[in-house]
Amino acid sequence: MKWYRLSELHADHRLVANCKSMCLSGPPSKHFIWPIDIVDEVSDLFGCVMDLLPEDFECAEDLYANPGRFPSYKRIIDACIQIVSCFHAVHCKGYCFQDIPMWDLFVDPQKGGVIFSRGENVAPEGTYTDVMASGRYAAPEIVTGASVPSMRSDRYSMAVIVFMLLCHLHPLEGARFCEGRIPDDSERRRAYGLGPVFVFDSDDSSNRPDSAILASCTWESLPRHMRDFFCRAFSRDALLDPRRRPSELEWMRELVRFRSEVVPCKCWDEVFLDGASAVRCGRCGALCGAPLRLEVGGFDARDPCVSIGDAPTHGARESSVALVTDARLYRSQLNRSCSPDYMLEPQLWAVSKKGGSQCAYDVRLCNVSRESWKVRFGREVANVAPGQSVRAIEGLELEILGELVRVCANV
Ligand SMILES: [Zn+2]
Repeated sequence: MKWYRLSELHADHRLVANCKSMCLSGPPSKHFIWPIDIVDEVSDLFGCVMDLLPEDFECAEDLYANPGRFPSYKRIIDACIQIVSCFHAVHCKGYCFQDIPMWDLFVDPQKGGVIFSRGENVAPEGTYTDVMASGRYAAPEIVTGASVPSMRSDRYSMAVIVFMLLCHLHPLEGARFCEGRIPDDSERRRAYGLGPVFVFDSDDSSNRPDSAILASCTWESLPRHMRDFFCRAFSRDALLDPRRRPSELEWMRELVRFRSEVVPCKCWDEVFLDGASAVRCGRCGALCGAPLRLEVGGFDARDPCVSIGDAPTHGARESSVALVTDARLYRSQLNRSCSPDYMLEPQLWAVSKKGGSQCAYDVRLCNVSRESWKVRFGREVANVAPGQSVRAIEGLELEILGELVRVCANV
């Protein structure tokens, strides 16, 4: 039970009305702790009954600065994909977040699952429920008071959360932020609202982090396409014009592509292939790669949540998946138009032979979908039913959901 003091809310009690409305409509997905019942106004109090946070979930605000809590970088990417998917689910219902600070977000670092803990902070697009936005995560137009929360301001908050989890620093807190001091309110308003500058802005280096912060963040090791995408999401245009911010599906496309390039090293560190067939491990110097890859079609760029006037979505792009343990092929990578509820449904999951080491390349391709695959190797044709698997060998062709997927040498 969460209690609110009515005397501290807006005079028309719009937060109470929104809680009642959200309670009736139900959550956008299973990743929300949502109002499930209301205890009506008792004296000065109003109560919201919600589920408890499941075990194993930790606050994202604590996790972003402690990436060692995640067993692998792939789990951080999994959490980011899930976060973007939750924003998509909220927007597809016509809702937006009133406020989405990182301390309202919980992540299971072992599995990459996420939970948004305050469903009462979601409201229909265009409404303002009196929730005070947290400057550090709110879009510049919310910080300055120029706009009310919207799907487009959410896209900024989403980009901040993803950047912080992947890079371990805030995208606007660089050299210009406070020069080592605790910032006062006017400095915060300038940094987050009036004059935001991305720490890695391509044209303006005035807000670069100091060398100690640079050494501890992962920016330089990210694949080029991810750095370019962050530069676009936090460009001056996108910071100041909400219509220029990338959509959720564009984020999913980049993150799924990034996930497909993560290869484990025998020292248990990971490398990002970034289009190469092999890369040297930063920790032990070993050459890491994946001898085989899956060649698949691009992402379906049609996005039901992109409205007229938004930044154009980029065209579908050819992508490939490095065939290592825990590689996945998602439904959305097969260029199929599917509902947002299913686009991140894995169709194929690569596993090592039992007893093999984490970077063994003798991988099997498991059918984790609900439909059989047709598999061809030379003249041989076979069916692989859901739950069954086939050994990955060069030249193997799989027909998955009517799309052709090839196993190729990674050269
Ligand atoms: Zn290594």
